Amino acid sequence: MSKIKVMDEILANKIAAGEVVERCASVVKELVENSIDAGSSEIKIELKEAGTSLIKVTDDGTGMDKEDAVVAFNRHATSKIMDESDLYNINTLGFRGEALASIASVSNVLLKTSTGDVGTLVNIKGGKLIKVENTDARKGTIIEVSELFYNTPARLKHMKSLYTELASITEYVNKIALSHSEIRFTLINNNNVILKTDGSNNLLKTIGSIYGVEVARKMLSINGEDDDYIINGFISLPEVNRAGRNHIITLVNGRVVRNQELNKTINDSYHSYKPDNRYPIVVINIELDPSLVDVNIHPTKMDIKFSKLEELLELVKKTITNKLNSQTLIPEVNIIEFSNLDSDVNLNKKEDLENKFEEKIQFNNSSKPKYEEITLDFNIQEEKYVYKNEELKVKENKERLPLLYPVGLVHGTYIVCQNEIGMYLIDQHAAKERLNYELFKEKLTNPTKENIPMLLPFTIELSNNEYIILKENFEFLENMGFEISEFGINSIIIKAHPIWLTKGFEDLQIRKILELVSSKEKEFDLAKFNDHLAATLACKASIKANTNLSINEMEELINDLRKCHNPFNCPHGRPTIVTFTKYDLEKMFKRSGFESLK
Ligand code: ZN
Ligand code: ZN
Repeated sequence: MSKIKVMDEILANKIAAGEVVERCASVVKELVENSIDAGSSEIKIELKEAGTSLIKVTDDGTGMDKEDAVVAFNRHATSKIMDESDLYNINTLGFRGEALASIASVSNVLLKTSTGDVGTLVNIKGGKLIKVENTDARKGTIIEVSELFYNTPARLKHMKSLYTELASITEYVNKIALSHSEIRFTLINNNNVILKTDGSNNLLKTIGSIYGVEVARKMLSINGEDDDYIINGFISLPEVNRAGRNHIITLVNGRVVRNQELNKTINDSYHSYKPDNRYPIVVINIELDPSLVDVNIHPTKMDIKFSKLEELLELVKKTITNKLNSQTLIPEVNIIEFSNLDSDVNLNKKEDLENKFEEKIQFNNSSKPKYEEITLDFNIQEEKYVYKNEELKVKENKERLPLLYPVGLVHGTYIVCQNEIGMYLIDQHAAKERLNYELFKEKLTNPTKENIPMLLPFTIELSNNEYIILKENFEFLENMGFEISEFGINSIIIKAHPIWLTKGFEDLQIRKILELVSSKEKEFDLAKFNDHLAATLACKASIKANTNLSINEMEELINDLRKCHNPFNCPHGRPTIVTFTKYDLEKMFKRSGFESLK
């Protein structure tokens, strides 16, 4: 019996906004999802000119019999959705129905398919059936779409550059590969392999195929659950971050979806571990009862609404921060040899494509070294890397910062330390900033009104509108520990200030607090405000560069840093500490492998 039923007309209209086929990427999406529906274990996508001249998808799925192969090109034919209620079931992949018909109406389609018996070949061009005939019986489907938009020149003009087309196809195939680690995917453009996954159902391995083994090595596995949700997946170490946020990938019951709040929460969970304008690489799968979600039923979008969103966000945040808070996160400065630095960017090569996608995440200066480049890397043991469904073990110490012995100070800025593992550099401003930040945040979050009288009462004149806002916030300031009152026209007087302001920086910090309070919005988030205020005050109060510290002062700073919640970053996400391992030092001086080091 035919597997394909013709859908109810109303339902079809509801699904299809008529823009199924917009670009090469949407054609690839339709074809690949058909292959997944057909239960394929291997899907090969071959492109010529980023799909503009050919898109060929080969799978080893169930294939179709002759009847289905022809009906598949009818509008509103689908094998998946049987009634409207199925649409709300996130487990169903088949939103499509008119996709093949739409594609065939604007291109030349050659379909070869077989269920294992007789094969069928169908050729449709511009929506017209050109030929149907028997062909060989290889089980599965091969579909070739060429001359895309040949009869709709207006759409052709809308196509972006080949590079943009290829980039969006690659992005899509990456995501679908991440959501189907059990399927072997190959993506090829002009005979160059862009992606190849092994279908071993190992998510970390798939991440490695997309981002490279180095990134896979720096992924941490996460697991969390509550009554309604189970989450698992991989998050990058904070140092592995990208300029764009599209490497945060969320799956719901194995399917790629989008939810802005979720992405924002994932990124916020890294707050102060990395700069806020850089984004981590995250692949996270959420398992839940399908009745808890509402999917925007549009074939080209996968926006999703969760009915217990707050609960989910809390779980995600808790799971990620707990993981980060248990790691030793000292970036390792190591030496990577680049052999092909000078080769031109070639669209067809995977590495070049990725380099174009991403600015290189390196502390590099403009002059390009010939052979070697110093990059930041993470201190992960040198054990031979084996893919398991867990990250390479990063030491989970109670003491997240190892014992360090200061040796001296460079440029009045960087503390040089050592221990048996290697050499460390600490940025003393960043370190002090971290200490002050955590101190101020604690004081702001749990205000005590404890204060110190000012030696000289402090008066400050404000603009009329600042004055009005500030007057409204007297109570807010008093709770913080200020004694404050009006003092003539548009002026205020401060008689006492919170006890925790930094000695010698009181005036500066008071001005900063007043400035931030007087620019505070009516509707504001106290936690965020306190966080921002703490970071701002911390920067103002911290040792400037070119301040010489004694060895004792350095030791004290390191010991205080060790007690921090996050000793590895300043409140702005810059590193406080980096390390050169002994091995790296040896490599740098070409000692390793050349002579005995005893
Ligand atoms: Zn600063
Ligand atoms: Zn900073």
